[in-house]
Amino acid sequence: MNRRYLKCFSLALLFSLHLWAEGGMYPINTIGSLNLKKEGLKMDVKDIYNPSGKGLIKAVVQLGGCTGSFVSDKGLIITNHHCAFGGLEPYSTPGNNLLEKGYVAGSQEKELPIKGLTCKILISNTDVSTDILKGTESVSDGVLKKNIIAKNIASYKAAEVLKNPDYTIEIAEMLPGKSYMLFRYITIKDIRIVYIPARNIGEFGGESDNWEWPRHTGDFSFVRAYVGKDGKSADYSQDNVPFHPEEFLNINAKGLAENDFVFIVGYPGRTFRNLPADFIKMQEEFTLPYISDLYTWEINTIKSLGAGDAKFMIKNEPKIKQLANVEKNYKGKLKTMRSIALYKSRLEEEQKIANKLNIEQSARFKNNLNKSNALYASMGSIAFKSYWYNNLYSESKAIALADNIRTISNAFRTMKTEEYNKIKKNTLSLIRSQYKSIYVSYDSIFLKKMLLDASNFSGSNMVPGLNTLLFKNENKMQVIREYIAKAYKKNLIFDSTSIFKIINDKPEKIEKLKDPFMDLVKNLNKDYHETDSLMTYYKAQLDALLPEYVDLRMEALGGDFLPDANRTLRLTYGYIRGYHPSDATYCTPFTTVRGMAEKDGAAPDYRLNEDIARLLNQNAFGAYKLKDKNDLPMCLLYNTDTTGGNSGSPLLDGNGQLIGINFDRCLEATVNDYAWNESYSRSIAVDIRFVLWTTSMVSGADYLLKEMYITQ
Ligand code: ASP
Repeated sequence: MNRRYLKCFSLALLFSLHLWAEGGMYPINTIGSLNLKKEGLKMDVKDIYNPSGKGLIKAVVQLGGCTGSFVSDKGLIITNHHCAFGGLEPYSTPGNNLLEKGYVAGSQEKELPIKGLTCKILISNTDVSTDILKGTESVSDGVLKKNIIAKNIASYKAAEVLKNPDYTIEIAEMLPGKSYMLFRYITIKDIRIVYIPARNIGEFGGESDNWEWPRHTGDFSFVRAYVGKDGKSADYSQDNVPFHPEEFLNINAKGLAENDFVFIVGYPGRTFRNLPADFIKMQEEFTLPYISDLYTWEINTIKSLGAGDAKFMIKNEPKIKQLANVEKNYKGKLKTMRSIALYKSRLEEEQKIANKLNIEQSARFKNNLNKSNALYASMGSIAFKSYWYNNLYSESKAIALADNIRTISNAFRTMKTEEYNKIKKNTLSLIRSQYKSIYVSYDSIFLKKMLLDASNFSGSNMVPGLNTLLFKNENKMQVIREYIAKAYKKNLIFDSTSIFKIINDKPEKIEKLKDPFMDLVKNLNKDYHETDSLMTYYKAQLDALLPEYVDLRMEALGGDFLPDANRTLRLTYGYIRGYHPSDATYCTPFTTVRGMAEKDGAAPDYRLNEDIARLLNQNAFGAYKLKDKNDLPMCLLYNTDTTGGNSGSPLLDGNGQLIGINFDRCLEATVNDYAWNESYSRSIAVDIRFVLWTTSMVSGADYLLKEMYITQ
């Protein structure tokens, strides 16, 4: 670790109280210096993370894009419903739709493997900044620096893999050009479904309630990790046995109350807090509105096409869910960043920094900002075009197909046989999946929309390939209409048999094909790739300015530097707490099952599960000693610092016992990714008492409670 960065860390330690007021996703190796006992932790921090041995973190795993935690000594993992339920798809049929009904294995033999899902357990981590930054000391050009760093990372990783072939080795950039950490993991490849509640429990409230509080979603599920008989990670095999984790979490079935201390250990995905104010401006002006508006359009279009085509709708349901999740998150971010005037306050902070620093430092700070602001302005000037290209090439399968077919043709023309065969093999597999996913009606509507959008771009956002190919005369609308009608009418490119035949037998003929999509791609490609390279170049130059920006900011403001979330293990802590989302409105921090019943039928997203309805009518709370449904907590709210990737993270009490499973944030807290704030940053978990009641009483899976040593 270089000295300045060390200083950042030690200052961060000194100011730990101040840091909490700022939120914080603490890298796991730094938590020893936090005064967590003072905040409410009752266990020893060394029992959470201990570099030389055991610790609670050994119970926390990275599960696909989510987090999970071991809750038994037989590899049982608890996570969110939305992190695992897709695994039921291959086992679902129209007559037996497990995605909807959920699944209780009942015994280990009946647990269902989830193809492609892995679970990673952290073994150790080391600061490798000095080695990774070797050779960059006197390099100021961002691109050169990035290339050296990338090479150093690759060779360091290769050497580590040789030393530890059983481990998954990752080197994470904690701050570009400044700090790098090496992480060694065990990756378990055989993960099986144990218990997934019905969808009207795990997803109750659907999109209507996504990113909202009050919440009544039973977003939990159980999977199990299996390994070979030798205890080592292995591909799925019937002979595999449950993994025995070093640690698993105990459960606090009594739950907690408002203002109690809680903490979370997990794998948050991405935040952007250490960047200059103009990054926020770029997000507010370009990124968030462009992407969220485009996704709104896509969702509405898919839904209206799906209204007359059930098959299309079923196929696109996961996609709608994905798009809607981002769309609402981005709209939430935009709303809050505007209402709190985030850009303005960050500008004011930069002014304050410049005023606080001494003359020499202040001049460096201003110079640094001038350079980065100029780079953000350059990025902004081509932002729409850049997003347009990226979305066009990924969303229109016709364009993607044409591009890939041209790639094979170019490779055939310019490469040696061996290289060509490699490119051909990879590109053909992309083409195959594009043929599988193309839906011509949607594709044509999408491409038409994109061309219309581009016809309104001006200045440096104009797309030159369209001007030369399509927009030669004034009536752009008509040209677009004619182009679309022609392109999607019985076109050779949609005939996969013929296309594969040409690629395999006569690749030299591809160039001569008369095809409107290939023509379009040919005209767009040069500027598309140039725009992409320019964006990469600006980003690299910005990264090169970041270490100085962060150092000077630290110098002026004191200890509030923490590396942004980057999918490495973090701890965050806080308190169970309600909040005021708007004037004269206070939200309390617990919901109960009663709210589920109250919402029942209000919209298609709210369908009370029949078994829950029956149990509520009977006041059947089993061993839970509850009077009635007003007593059974369902979800809870707290002010820790989380983001995407924290889904499935364990919510723990001061003794490190499990009290809930984190799954979401309230709408205002989507802006967390840029700035945490006590007034609006609230995360949401499903209460473990609801998990236990549902597992036992609704789904009859008492054997899991026994496995978790729940005896009450
Ligand atoms: N819902 C998010 C996830 O799926 C969690 C969050 O963003 O707070 O990871």
